[in-house]
Amino acid sequence: MSSIPSGFIEQVRTSTELLDVVSQYVPLKRAGKSFKGLCPFHKEKTPSFNVSPDRQIFHCFGCGQGGDVFKFLMLYESMSFVEAVHHLAARAGLTIPAGERQDRATAGDRSLFLELHEVASRFYRAQLLEKPEGRRALDYLIQRGFSRTTIEERDLGFAPDRWSALLEHLTRKGYKPEDMARCGLLVPRREGRGFYDRFRNRVVIPIRNELKKIVAFGGRILGHGEPKYLNSPESIIYRKSHILFDFDRAKEAIRRNGAAILMEGYTDCIQAHQAGIDNAVACCGTSLTEGHARLLHRSTDRVVVNFDPDAAGEAATQRSIDLLIEEGFEARVLTLAPGEDPDGFIRNRGADAYRQRLAGASSFVDYLIERAAQRNDVRSPRGKAQFLNEVLPTLARIPNHVERVAYVTQLAERADISDAAVVEELKRKVTARVRRVDVAPEAASRLKPAERDLVRWLLQSPAEAAVILTEINEEDLLEMVTAPILTAMKELATGQPATMAGVLERLSSEGDRNLMTRIALEPAPLSSRQSPRDCLNKLREQRWRRELSRLQKKLAQGQEDDRITAEIQALARRIETLASIENHA
Ligand SMILES: [Zn+2]
Repeated sequence: MSSIPSGFIEQVRTSTELLDVVSQYVPLKRAGKSFKGLCPFHKEKTPSFNVSPDRQIFHCFGCGQGGDVFKFLMLYESMSFVEAVHHLAARAGLTIPAGERQDRATAGDRSLFLELHEVASRFYRAQLLEKPEGRRALDYLIQRGFSRTTIEERDLGFAPDRWSALLEHLTRKGYKPEDMARCGLLVPRREGRGFYDRFRNRVVIPIRNELKKIVAFGGRILGHGEPKYLNSPESIIYRKSHILFDFDRAKEAIRRNGAAILMEGYTDCIQAHQAGIDNAVACCGTSLTEGHARLLHRSTDRVVVNFDPDAAGEAATQRSIDLLIEEGFEARVLTLAPGEDPDGFIRNRGADAYRQRLAGASSFVDYLIERAAQRNDVRSPRGKAQFLNEVLPTLARIPNHVERVAYVTQLAERADISDAAVVEELKRKVTARVRRVDVAPEAASRLKPAERDLVRWLLQSPAEAAVILTEINEEDLLEMVTAPILTAMKELATGQPATMAGVLERLSSEGDRNLMTRIALEPAPLSSRQSPRDCLNKLREQRWRRELSRLQKKLAQGQEDDRITAEIQALARRIETLASIENHA
């Protein structure tokens, strides 16, 4: 997992109160033994996000996310595990053990890189607003429709047409070129040693994280030249898949408006905000990712996609819709006339005209159907098939079955096909889809009550757990969704009682860890008449009964066989024995 000694990780964990950390981000209220609040990882109106100070874990019964304090920071702040450990160590006043230079550097790098970006931004800004060289850039921005206020408020800047303007400036301030290069401000020379400025002769736009810290720059060339747009590379402070341009400005407006507008570039976004359309964000330099979706989900579950109406924009729209649907968003698409991007549209026709278009944005289904119908001749059988092939893969991503099927009629009408045929095809597409790995809610739905209670009992009574865990065998585990959890507990129990942290650390899949926190924070109390042994017996009985009925079916189908009969008798005896134990208890 990392090169930090596990002893130190434990020390950080025990010096940290999960509740204190979470409370900094999420308002919580006491509810019995645990605390509840609105989940920061998905949008909801009634709290299903639970924090347990006893167990030092959190779990959301809405979206299935759960884990310990490290996981919380990894999700909320998009930190890596190592960064989360360092962050909490610093918070608890713990010194990172010597020999961890590499990792210590990482934690220090974070603040150094943020500082470098801040200083670089001030330099670029001064070039734009105060230097004769920046005049051309300032004229360009004003001619592009950006107001003086926008330019200053956003700290837009200009990178001079020289190889080492920023390098020299930062060196004079005492920073090392190696550090500037590591966070993407400089580029190593191809030949020989040394570095040069990444951004030259460009308008530079600061890209900020959710906490409004500058983590990267986007640069647009002034005049002609390639590439037209240039972004900072990824670094420990800039993970493209987790940062949406303008999310820091837009998040409140997104909540207020009940929807986010997703645009392609930062100029679109800046123009929109300037015109008062303040719920616009853009994913710059990358397509929409799950990380972005998670960010958006904190404020809304509705997104309008408004990309450029060209081939690249259409492809990006398709990809974004697929992801948004899969992540449970209500997606709509706004398509402007050819040649019109949001930036130009808002500049030429104003915010009101844009808002009107926005109100008329199509549902993603209408958009897909229209687009596929334009490209295929739905009167021919071949065209119909092609039409379905274009639309169905996206529909198949809708998590809700009822909603999925509801669109079928609309589809059938457009392609003039009987409903049954479309439903058949849709079903085939849905089943053919590869299952995603982190299907926590699904695993949870296959969880049997007895299995859930077994794990809860094992957590609650360590003494009994040590005995029962040795009795759970391979055959018992075979059909259980909690098999990885029980296996982890078994492995731990040989040494000492299984701790929550220990079990979580041993689970390799995200889905299993979420299932574990879910089970541990289950709100209903355990029945006092139960014990871990009762639960295990119950599970065995259920398994044997299933097996019994399978064999009886075989027998009924005429597969008469002495061996089957003998097996049936043996199973019946085992079930009877279990029942007699239960009656004596
Ligand atoms: Zn949630």
